Amino acid sequence: MPKYVYEFAEGSKDLKDLLGGKGANLAEMTNLGLPVPPGFTITTETCRYFLAHDAMPEGLDAEVDAKLSALERAMGKRLGQPDDPLLVSVRSGAKFSMPGMMETVLNIGLNDDSVHGLAAQSGDERFAWDSYRRLIQMFGKTVQGIGGESFDDAFEEVKRQKGVTDDLQLDAADHRKLVDLFKGIVAEHTGREFPCDPREQMDLAVRAVFGSWNAPRAVLYRRQERIPVDLGTAVNVCAMVFGNMGMDSGTGVAFTRDPASGRQGVYGDYLQNAQGEDVVAGIRNTVPLAELERLDPASHRELLSIMEKLETHYRDLCDIEFTIERGKLWMLQTRVGKRTAAAAFCIADQLVDQGMITLDEAVSRVTGDQLAQLMFPRFADDAQGHLLGTGMNASPGAAVGKVVFDSETVVARSREGEDVILCRRETNPDDLEGMLSAAGILTSRGGKTSHAAVVARGMGKTCVCGAEELDIDVKNRRITAPGGEVVEEGDVISIDGTSGCVYLGEVPVVASPVVRYFEGEIDPAAGEAGDLVRAVDRLMRHADAARRLRVRANADNAQDAARARRMGAEGIGLCRTEHMFLGDRRRLVERLVLAGTDAEQREALEGLLPLQRDDFAEAFAAMDGLPVTVRLLDPPLHEFLPDFTELSVRVALAESRGEDPEDDRRLLKAVTRLHEQNPMMGLRGVRLGLLVPGLFTMQVRAIAQAAAQLLSEGRRPRPEVMIPLVATVQELEIIREESAGVVREVAEEYGVELDFPIGTMIELPRAALTAGQIAESAAFFSFGTNDLTQTAWGFSRDDVEASFFSAYLEKGVFGVSPFESLDVEGVGRLIDIAVEEGRAARPGIKLGVCGEHGGDPRSVHFFHRAGLDYVSCSPFRVPVARLEAGRAAARG
Ligand code: ADP
Ligand code: MG
Ligand code: MG
Repeated sequence: MPKYVYEFAEGSKDLKDLLGGKGANLAEMTNLGLPVPPGFTITTETCRYFLAHDAMPEGLDAEVDAKLSALERAMGKRLGQPDDPLLVSVRSGAKFSMPGMMETVLNIGLNDDSVHGLAAQSGDERFAWDSYRRLIQMFGKTVQGIGGESFDDAFEEVKRQKGVTDDLQLDAADHRKLVDLFKGIVAEHTGREFPCDPREQMDLAVRAVFGSWNAPRAVLYRRQERIPVDLGTAVNVCAMVFGNMGMDSGTGVAFTRDPASGRQGVYGDYLQNAQGEDVVAGIRNTVPLAELERLDPASHRELLSIMEKLETHYRDLCDIEFTIERGKLWMLQTRVGKRTAAAAFCIADQLVDQGMITLDEAVSRVTGDQLAQLMFPRFADDAQGHLLGTGMNASPGAAVGKVVFDSETVVARSREGEDVILCRRETNPDDLEGMLSAAGILTSRGGKTSHAAVVARGMGKTCVCGAEELDIDVKNRRITAPGGEVVEEGDVISIDGTSGCVYLGEVPVVASPVVRYFEGEIDPAAGEAGDLVRAVDRLMRHADAARRLRVRANADNAQDAARARRMGAEGIGLCRTEHMFLGDRRRLVERLVLAGTDAEQREALEGLLPLQRDDFAEAFAAMDGLPVTVRLLDPPLHEFLPDFTELSVRVALAESRGEDPEDDRRLLKAVTRLHEQNPMMGLRGVRLGLLVPGLFTMQVRAIAQAAAQLLSEGRRPRPEVMIPLVATVQELEIIREESAGVVREVAEEYGVELDFPIGTMIELPRAALTAGQIAESAAFFSFGTNDLTQTAWGFSRDDVEASFFSAYLEKGVFGVSPFESLDVEGVGRLIDIAVEEGRAARPGIKLGVCGEHGGDPRSVHFFHRAGLDYVSCSPFRVPVARLEAGRAAARG
């Protein structure tokens, strides 16, 4: 028979699966010899049984009896014993801490008899009745599910009758009266008396904790965080200690190091004469922990030595909860503490210096997300802003601009070169263009999965959402702040998407020191570098040494390529060529589309050739010695032609003036011909290459000529040609043969040796599923995970992100958009298949990924596991990918 109940002394920190985080750490502290009030943990397995059978497993009762007896013996009193009651707390604790689970119930074991015993033992009537009153209130709310207002209303009424406003002004008699009133509320709501049997109180609370595993908020959180639904929670039953027994008692929280800077030293808050959540509830002002040295030097000394012991033992920053009962210190909780991004790097670095962890471990303790946070521009530390209010930090960064209330105005003003902030109560798909043009987005409604938040994150745009204290009055075009300030349209504000703060006026923005370090502007060895830059440098160097995945960048021009290289890119994984067809060159594309004869077509292509050649030469030169993967033209041709409506109007107007707009009319005909219902699935990529003769060969010729030219200048260009949107090997075959012919021609023409790989993107499910065949014709695969996600899900990204992704996120269909983080189960499976079949057909085939997933931490770990050779992402994400690739390898 399984063992369902563990005394604290029987567990350890490695039993989180079974005992939950809180229980495992209470056990660990107990075994370290720290003063933890005794208790026991009922396992997560018990919870799983309970949820499956709606009943407790057989034998549990007897085990609980035994552990409770042991606890009673240790404490020298029985649960709820009338003359000297043992009281306990019942605390939930799953493997991962999770909002929505049942809150802790304190003071279990009090009833009409034992309340007198508690009063006698403590010598404090008021304390005893206050504790009893709190028990009925907490029990009624959390175990019996009675709305909190009933109790709050009764409480207010008693205060009103007495003519006081402060809880502390109520005396023993008042609390006694409240006990009666609260018991009445319980009876009324549940149809039975408040349970006076201490053991029944405990059992009901335990059951309620198990039941709360399926509370709606917990269910939603698990779905979003992808925490398995069947883990279950443990329950901890812990002897009560009292921080509210007078001024020689109190309760506090502390961190072993500063969770904001990582600085070592005492960091925490303490509140005298208080219990449970009083410290964080803000009912009275806490004092800094240093103050405890004066109030209770012995406890202070003991606490410091415990913190040091914990930190050495866990080899990390810990946070703790403690209580002092009449001069005696008790530890109630510890865990590895949360910390800011900067602190994560600094602490990992410090712990290596202190010999507590290895560099591999240090790298595993920082994340790419944290690094990305450190790379956003931010408001200068010493900048003084007038705070208007705060909202949710929905999408990081710092933005400054003029307040504008509608998308049209945003577009118009930003066209004139102004920085503007789009301010709305909430956004909807109609605001898309405005969001795209704005420097930042501010809303007064909606949470982190609201439309504004989701879309802004997708765009990488700074966003503060749900700033409810700001009244954004779109109709009257003004914002009113709680302080009374009124911001009119056109006034400048500054929003901080990392903290959620909104300031009046322009707050100066500075580049992050971490970016300046990557850009080579800060030397990590120099004195002025600072702890953070030194820590980042050390961990990045280790990650680089550890990683197997190479990291390239997506860059379309020499400037981006140069920047990517400074950021550590080892080549370009995706050089798009479409921008090379825009601007003045549109005329050439128009001519290409309109060409009536072969000669006209050749002429148009010959016009484009030298321009493309120069583009490529620049990119190859910037990446000299490193590979540059050039993707041949991907989007449908009509994207380079004038807008259908605009053109129709132009033709109609000309005709009404009696003119004969022959060119425009032909163009209009072409635009109409090329119009597609769904261009994403239409004539684009390799399909275009097959249907517009000479288009792809012109591009390949430009690539080959650029390479030949650089070679003859003694440089080391390393082009790779990539064919987009291949679904079947036949498509690739045709293009590859044509291209190989062109390369040979150019080589002869320039008298150099040219040999560069021609490969394909894998971005359609059919390509992934027939990768074995495709590999016979492809020197490399590059997974286009954006299109692969679109086609695997049947989503058109631009349409679905703006229309229903926020709803999907809110309903928990997925915790994160599959465009942000690779859908490992679905799209990942396609990649696995393609990797396996591709390698089987062509051992040593080079495998990479291009597309933003290459810079997403979780996705990078998948690509490492899948055995790819490299990832490619935007230049700014290159350091993130380097770090995560190192972490993936260091983890082994
Ligand atoms: P959470 O998971 O919300 O931190 P806890 O179980 O830690 O919940 O308990 C909530 C509060 O009650 C904390 O301040 C904790 O220190 C306090 N508490 C829990 N158990 C006891 C106990 N046995 N004696 C005194 N205080 C307790
Ligand atoms: Mg706690
Ligand atoms: Mg694509």
